[in-house]
Amino acid sequence: MAEQEHNRGKERTQYLEDVLSKLRLDEPSGLLTRVSLRGHSVQNVRKRLPIIDSLSQQGWDPETVLNAKKGDTLHNVTGETFAVTRRVGDTVFIVNDMGHEGQISCSPKELKAKKYEYQTSDPRKIQVFDMAYNDDSVDTVEFIDGLVSSIPTQCLDVFQEIQIQKEAQTGGGKTRVEASLFSNSSVIVIYVDPDIYNLEESKKTLFHEIGHAVVRYLRGSTNPGERWKKAMADDATPISEYASKTKYPNKGDNGEIEDSAESFMIYVSADGASDSNTSRLREMASNRFRILDEVFQVLAQRQVESIITTLRRQIFGGTSIFDKAN
Ligand SMILES: [Zn+2]
Repeated sequence: MAEQEHNRGKERTQYLEDVLSKLRLDEPSGLLTRVSLRGHSVQNVRKRLPIIDSLSQQGWDPETVLNAKKGDTLHNVTGETFAVTRRVGDTVFIVNDMGHEGQISCSPKELKAKKYEYQTSDPRKIQVFDMAYNDDSVDTVEFIDGLVSSIPTQCLDVFQEIQIQKEAQTGGGKTRVEASLFSNSSVIVIYVDPDIYNLEESKKTLFHEIGHAVVRYLRGSTNPGERWKKAMADDATPISEYASKTKYPNKGDNGEIEDSAESFMIYVSADGASDSNTSRLREMASNRFRILDEVFQVLAQRQVESIITTLRRQIFGGTSIFDKAN
């Protein structure tokens, strides 16, 4: 019976990301405006990587590792399990069930980086730290230009910098790590394979991470809350395989954190899904996209307000758009 249910579910499952991947998106629909660049400067710098980002990048749950003591069990995102044998200062010594020993360093790491500073057509600047390619090639500059110019202007206040880091490579292959979920900084981290430039994939990752940053900016937490959960239930369309599989129970999450970021990614990729070419996406996720329409209005409104009052960005108290009653 359970198997039958499962199979029936499988036949029916069509993710919103599958619909997106079949669309031709060369005509912008005009709902979102993108950053227009007025040139950039590049500097060689060293960038201190926060411990939390550094541990996440290695596939660890930072909280567990930072509190680890002898006898604890640690799980890596690769699926491997380790026992903590001892802890000396910032170093956690571990062993797996094959007897292989290793160690995890919990001290901040400094990495060489190229710092790009973009001047946009409004007074804002965008900082990008490239720790992955870290060269002066035309390909790298074009890649970073392409990423930055794909950002909706409405989102410029929700983050302070973008870091491009080497993706965590493990025995089992590549892993998806979302360092920004575990730290409270407004830094967007995207991971790349430094041997290739995959602009389309990297844009999706960027939009996804900006989605988390937007929720945090408006709500003070990456969990989008009850209104979003109701929209998910009412739409009844799964967004992507990743969103369906990824939950953070220790953050009180039943899937809405990744669902909101993946929805945001699809919404931005489809330029707000406001034309006939992208209407299928909006039909399938109408309740979520209606919230995102409002989110973009609120973001734009805040920018106008901040220009008028020249106030620095701040997290506003009171009721966020995610908590509004339907
Ligand atoms: Zn995510």
